[in-house]
Amino acid sequence: MQTSKIKLLPDHIANQIAAGEVVQRPASVVKELLENALDAGASEIKLIVKDGGKTLIQVIDNGTGMNPIDARMSLERHATSKIATADDLFAIQTKGFRGEALASIVAVSHLELKTRTETEELGTLIKAEGSKIIVQEPVSTPKGTVISVKNLFYNIPARRKFLKSVQVEMKHVNDEFLRVALAHPEISFSLIHNGNIVYQLPVANTLQRINAIFGGKMKNKLIPIEEQTPYIKITGYIGRPDSAKLKRGEQFFFVNKRFIKSPYLHHALMSAYEGLIREKSYPPYFIFLEIDPQHIDINIHPTKTEVKFDDEPTVYSILKVAAKHSLGQFNLSPSIDFDRKPDLEIPYHQTKSSPKLPSIEVDPDFNPFEVDFSNSKDFSIGHFEKKTAFFDTMMNETEEISSGIKDTENSLLGFKGIENITGFQFLNKYIVSPFQEKLLIIHQQRAHEFILFHKFLENNSSLNHNGQTLTFPIELEFQKKEIDLLKTLETKLENAGFKLEFGEDIVLVTAIPSLQSKMNIPEFFEDLLHKLNLNAPTEIQPEEQIALLLAKKGAIKTGQKLEQNSVDVLLKDLFNFESFMFTPDNKKIVYSLTDPEIQNQLNK
Ligand code: ADP
Ligand code: MG
Repeated sequence: MQTSKIKLLPDHIANQIAAGEVVQRPASVVKELLENALDAGASEIKLIVKDGGKTLIQVIDNGTGMNPIDARMSLERHATSKIATADDLFAIQTKGFRGEALASIVAVSHLELKTRTETEELGTLIKAEGSKIIVQEPVSTPKGTVISVKNLFYNIPARRKFLKSVQVEMKHVNDEFLRVALAHPEISFSLIHNGNIVYQLPVANTLQRINAIFGGKMKNKLIPIEEQTPYIKITGYIGRPDSAKLKRGEQFFFVNKRFIKSPYLHHALMSAYEGLIREKSYPPYFIFLEIDPQHIDINIHPTKTEVKFDDEPTVYSILKVAAKHSLGQFNLSPSIDFDRKPDLEIPYHQTKSSPKLPSIEVDPDFNPFEVDFSNSKDFSIGHFEKKTAFFDTMMNETEEISSGIKDTENSLLGFKGIENITGFQFLNKYIVSPFQEKLLIIHQQRAHEFILFHKFLENNSSLNHNGQTLTFPIELEFQKKEIDLLKTLETKLENAGFKLEFGEDIVLVTAIPSLQSKMNIPEFFEDLLHKLNLNAPTEIQPEEQIALLLAKKGAIKTGQKLEQNSVDVLLKDLFNFESFMFTPDNKKIVYSLTDPEIQNQLNK
């Protein structure tokens, strides 16, 4: 008998898989529920969470509500009242449209839905557990909808375990809440966490809403930005140059009232500040772009925080010009009255027609971690006299081993002052170089690790201020005790080229060491904390651990092709050391052949 191998996944499994895409953490649920409340036309939205949303996320709205059939349908996959045909996809005015949020959420939680439309007398109560409806019955409830999501990921222990501390999860919930609240000042919002009111935001205009959220001082830091062209409309507020801070956090772009992340637009805005603010500092901004939905694609990201414009350079250019104009106005009359209603501001109409491309070239693929190795200038290092306990131990062992095995290798010590160094790369793996009476075969990766290790260990030379400031600082989450440990290492990390800013359970990395190879920063910190936890501090000094890890991560790799000048610099740097036989973790760097050895082989 033949059986078919392909089976349709049962719905509840399909939903669980899809949930992985939509629901990453409590904050994702918050975002979807708030957006549904907005789409339902609510004028008042209340968000109640417990334990950062891990225990409860509840959204109460006074929107349209649902009749019993829609209520039941809303939990099904691809159930949406918002689009009916594929064409509708190109004219979306609502936040949601995929019809998968509720289906995904109910698949991984205990969900309770209470809802009533205006015309019904009794509303509907539905209780569901992991996609299974347990209760559906009439209930007396105000017009609108209450959705409660309890025990997120109760049925996926691996994901539940992956959730961060209450504090961290709450920060994400808070962020999502603010993004929605900022874009909708005409709606009143409140946020309650573990019984405490975090925000109570009455109906307001945009500036008042910003102030209600960030405190009264914010309004003195902002200037209005406004521009309208047939393609796009820009409104909002940007920081005065003196409001720029080294830390990011109050930077918001919205497209059609939807929060988006856009390094590209950020760059456009920052370029308008060029020369006005300290490099790598960030003014606050709250920028609202309005554009015909036909010109954007919000479908590219499952959680919809990225938007693709059909004409990106134009958006870039208009934003930059508008910001320059605002800043120029501010310069002319810094005492501008910011309490004036924004509608009374004289609009700026210079770029009604199609704008020219700005002269700045932007590379949206620019990755600060990828440094071109062919630029071997940074590759050069100076002399290193300083030796640490770790290094001494390593060298003692080295000498013991070498003297025990081969006399010739001892004479590799003391290469200082060599002028004509030559070598060539072999198999993209070794560097072959004649030296005095010997032929050296050098393991390129280990040699470079060795060089970098000492470079990072050297903590009082100018070399150590060669950190590379990041255009987009990296935010890393840690537990409290990890943060404490990192704080104790701050100067050591700074000496290596890092710059860090500490939050309660967040570290902002604003600069990283300049390295030839790309480095995964989150991984570096994870590895560092891991290593420091494993080793008693007396065994390997933390600064040595940092240097070692950076050397390992930053070194050129086996298999990497080197330019001739890189080969030369590598040899020169290596030969500057009195001894360079072994890497810090005790791997052999050099294999040498003497004439007698070669003869011996040839005469066999
Ligand atoms: P989408 O928002 O993409 O349509 P959802 O899964 O988020 O998909 O919601 C499914 C449907 O449930 C919505 O299209 C809407 O009709 C209904 N719905 C969800 N939340 C609410 C709410 N708070 N008030 C009224 N209707 C809602
Ligand atoms: Mg939705």
